[in-house]
Amino acid sequence: MIKILFIASEADPLIKVGGLGDVAGSLPMALKKIKYKGETVDIRLALPYHPVIRQKYPNVEQITAFSIQTSSGPVSAQIHQMELNGLPIYLINGSPIPQDAPVYSLDTRQDGWKYTFFSIAALEMTRHLDWQPDIIHANDWHTAVSVVALARQKQEDPFFANTHSVFTIHNLPFMGAGTEAALDAFGIAPSRDVRLPIWARQFPLPLGLLYADHIVAVSPSYAHEIMTPEFGCGLEGLIQSRSEVVSGILNGLDTQAWDPSTDKVILNQYSKQDLTPRLANKLTLEQEVGLKPDAETPLLILISRMDQQKGVDIAIEGLRQTSDIPWKAILLGTGDPNLEQASRRLEVDFPDRVRTLIRFDANLSRRMYSGGDIILMPSRYEPCGLAQMIAMRYGCVPLARSVGGLTDTIRDAADLIRGNGFLFDDPTPEDFSKGLRRAAILFGEKAVWSSLQYQGMQSDFSWHQSAVAYLKIYQSLEERHG
Ligand code: ADP
Repeated sequence: MIKILFIASEADPLIKVGGLGDVAGSLPMALKKIKYKGETVDIRLALPYHPVIRQKYPNVEQITAFSIQTSSGPVSAQIHQMELNGLPIYLINGSPIPQDAPVYSLDTRQDGWKYTFFSIAALEMTRHLDWQPDIIHANDWHTAVSVVALARQKQEDPFFANTHSVFTIHNLPFMGAGTEAALDAFGIAPSRDVRLPIWARQFPLPLGLLYADHIVAVSPSYAHEIMTPEFGCGLEGLIQSRSEVVSGILNGLDTQAWDPSTDKVILNQYSKQDLTPRLANKLTLEQEVGLKPDAETPLLILISRMDQQKGVDIAIEGLRQTSDIPWKAILLGTGDPNLEQASRRLEVDFPDRVRTLIRFDANLSRRMYSGGDIILMPSRYEPCGLAQMIAMRYGCVPLARSVGGLTDTIRDAADLIRGNGFLFDDPTPEDFSKGLRRAAILFGEKAVWSSLQYQGMQSDFSWHQSAVAYLKIYQSLEERHG
């Protein structure tokens, strides 16, 4: 039976901060459900025993403890084990994981200590459990050090001789700056490999990219994009040099959690066979936020972190440039104060058309997906993106920049048969505005619009295909390396 240790900084439902939590919560479960050469997969999850997890699950049994050497003496690691829906989960505790700090803090040095300790302890734990993993699967900078430590230990320690690493990139720009002191203390010296830019030689994520046996980006397009100067953040040369071991695998969606035919939060449930109940959802939503209910005008929605990445400023300026045609918009999000302010200003300038809600509100987001006509996603970069998949499942048509996972999940309406949304090329208000004008015209052609909605709703965004793709990678590593 193939044995996989999946290492992540967050995993739903124990702890979720962002998209990584969705993936680490669902992918191991999806992998458990499929068979490998007729056998099930032995996949286990390792997480830090974050204070938030401790509050939810206070009395998880400790199964072992050991010390890790650092330049300032040994640090003790305690391993707790629980099970959730049949998935074994190891919660790792120790003094570098402070009990009063959030999952990700602004203190990069402290996070550097925390995640370096966690990554090394997760790897070391397997030896203490006498459980030899075939695959160590790490995610983003926080756990990259496990890949690096494995590559180094493998050469001297027969226990890891047949263990291979997979490293998934969910977000390339976050590389773990501030971790240098921790790496020194835990004995991970800077790399001298010339493929690494000098500034990157002691950052976890670039080191993970250098040492991983296989690299996965969370969509095929993002896998190509990170090899270009526009998206590669200075690591494009390194990633190109490893292109033979780079794949792109789309994240899946939890299709049970996001299902308009069973969603209890929305007013009227519906399925792709009959979308008529959506109209009442739209009108009620408009009423709820204080807009005049209006069936004929397209209702645009934006549900997003307010961040440069997401192009919220592009949407705002693009909407201003398209104010000569009818639309209404609801913007929901929090984040960068400047973008929050710009969103509020849009409401002030267009009081009959725009509502801006600066908060995180999962229930409202469901009502928006189930009543909105068009979701706006003008991202500057988008490794995979979940919001467009959720929207399509709910019959809300995406208007998105053609980038990363948006390119891979949205087929432009120019494809009259299989189109399910609208794509534009440049992250500019001008291109956004052109896309919005196209969408507004087709919104008026009911048969075409219904087809776009139907195509989106019948797309398969489940985890199954992606889990199979990951399994094939694990399998090829075993076969290639023996
Ligand atoms: P990212 O992970 O980069 O933030 P994704 O599109 O992958 O972007 O996932 C965003 C998720 O967060 C979606 O499920 C979206 O509905 C949700 N979300 C973002 N902002 C809000 C908000 N203000 N209120 C409720 N849900 C939100």
